[in-house]
Formats: sequence, C-alpha cells, structure tokens
Amino acid sequence: DDSEVIGRILEAVHFAAIKHKDQRRKDPEKTPYINHPIGVAYILWKEGGVFDTDVLQAAILHDTVEDTNTTLDELESTFGSEVRHIVSEVTDDKNLPKLERKRLQIVHAKTSSHKAKLVKLGDKLFNLRDLNRVTPQGWTEDRAVEYFHWAYQVFQGLKGTNEALEKELYKLFVERGVVE
Ligand code: NDP
Ligand code: ZN
Repeated sequence: DDSEVIGRILEAVHFAAIKHKDQRRKDPEKTPYINHPIGVAYILWKEGGVFDTDVLQAAILHDTVEDTNTTLDELESTFGSEVRHIVSEVTDDKNLPKLERKRLQIVHAKTSSHKAKLVKLGDKLFNLRDLNRVTPQGWTEDRAVEYFHWAYQVFQGLKGTNEALEKELYKLFVERGVVE
C-alpha cells in the first residue's frame, strides 16, 4: 500500500543522503551532491511517468556504489536484489581508466535491462540540463560540447525505453547542434 511505498522511497533518500553527505556537485555553487540522485528520481516520476518503486529507489541510489564506500551487498541487504541489480548495471568499474569507462558506457547501454535504461535516461537528462544551467568549475566550453557528443552516443543505446524522457533528451541534443 501507499505507506509501504513511501517508506521504501524515504529509506533510499535517507541512505543516499548519509552516503553522499560530504560530496558536492561540480558546479561553481558546489551544490550538495544528493540534489542529483533525488532530482533523477523526480524526473523519472514526474516526466517519465515511472512509478516502479525498485526503479525509483535505484535512481536515488544510483551513484552510491560508484562514488561512496557503499557496496552492492550492502544495497542488497537493505533494498533487495532487484535494486542491487539495477544499480550494478549503472555503476562504472572504478578499476578502469576514465576514457575506457566512457567507452564502455556506450557499449553497455544497449544491452542494459529496461529498468537500468530508465535510470540512465534520467541520469543523462539531469546532467545535461545541469551543464546547460552552468558550466562546471574548471571546464572549458569545448569540454561541455564533448560531453554532449558522448552522451548522445550513450543515448543511442537507450532508445525505445521511455518516449517522454527520450523526447526531452533529444531536444537538448538538437539545441546543442549534436543532431539536426
Ligand atoms: P567527468 O566524467 O569527469 O564529469 C562529468 C560527470 O560529472 C557527469 O557525468 C556527472 O556524473 C558528474 N557531475 C557532477 N557535477 C556535475 C554538473 N554540475 N554538471 C554535469 N555533470 C556533473 O567529465 P568528463 O565526462 O569530461 O570525463 C572525463 C573525460 O573528459 C576524460 O575521458 C577526458 O577525455 C575528457 N577531458 C576533456 C577535457 C577537455 O577539456 N576537453 C579535459 C579533461 C578531460 P554523475 O551522474 O556520476 O554525478
Ligand atoms: Zn548520476
């Protein structure tokens, strides 16, 4: 029922807020990092019409393993195996060099599960909007343009997942001249 779902969402928000508590975004205002995963889940719900609790929890938790000391086992014991699986699919292998991680995101996007693709769509949409809002500290305009081109390649593998989210992303790529 409602109260169970609300509790599961709040548990994920609570968990992620603690894990990301000392982290900031790359924007000049140094926005608290937690604004990002909360925003990704909200985009999925509000714009994507995504109401699957596992997907929304995974969105809230999607950067905990990549960017904090959180382990997949820890996620599984608190949120179950489905959430663990979705987060594992959207987590880069930190042992690989950055360029290789970027390349693998393009390769892996198309073979990801439907639920992982939803989280990826929300993540890309949030990050590209963030780049449009303000350029991160230390970034040149060229680097932001490069990021849009890379994100477009990942987006190619995510298509056919959620029409509304894809339409919003596509608009951003057109605006930036990445695609006609
Ligand atoms: P990063 O991967 O280092 O940064 C982008 C990521 O930062 C996003 O995917 C997002 O990830 C997170 N993020 C945090 N704050 C913001 C924000 N305000 N707006 C948007 N994203 C934010 O950058 P790159 O993609 O550029 O990765 C490094 C690569 O860049 C290297 O492979 C290298 O080739 C290239 N590079 C290019 C340079 C250039 O000048 N052209 C200079 C240096 C490197 P999350 O969702 O996980 O938070
Ligand atoms: Zn993210």
